[in-house]
Amino acid sequence: MSSRAEELILSLAKDLVGEDATELLKFLLRKRVEMTDDDIAKELNVKVNEIRKKLYLLSEQGFITYRKTRDKETGLFIYYWKVNLDQINELLLNRKRLVLEKLKARYEQEKDSLYYYCPQDNIQYNFDEALENEFKCPKCGSPLEYYDSEKTKKFLEYKIKQIENEIERETRHGSNSR
Ligand SMILES: [Zn+2]
Repeated sequence: MSSRAEELILSLAKDLVGEDATELLKFLLRKRVEMTDDDIAKELNVKVNEIRKKLYLLSEQGFITYRKTRDKETGLFIYYWKVNLDQINELLLNRKRLVLEKLKARYEQEKDSLYYYCPQDNIQYNFDEALENEFKCPKCGSPLEYYDSEKTKKFLEYKIKQIENEIERETRHGSNSR
């Protein structure tokens, strides 16, 4: 996982499970191996009950997952926890899909946009308003400039293609690894 992806996941986790549990997720992301709650508690030098609370929080949101086995001697279940990479990739993909939607909406807006703006205070005016004010800003008197959406459209097209490719690549990758 790239450091940017990790950052995204951690900031998402912060909103969902709070700072403390996010610290634990960060720890597990770096570890990458299965660990029991006891092992985690020992390594972080925290009470196992506290670790368990955070583990449940994280698993509720799908960030981590567990496998359990029965201890032959004590008959108790042992839980092995690890980061749920499939789910995390899905979360990242959903975020990208959301960004893509917003970019496309913005692109649609830009497509038919035609307006004037004041370079001084960045206020936009449609053609009628600009004409009414003799193509001068009613606020400060600066000559209004015609807005050229070509550059913005080119940039949006580029971004949209880029994210679409990423989503396609990562979706394929995800289904192959399952
Ligand atoms: Zn102005």
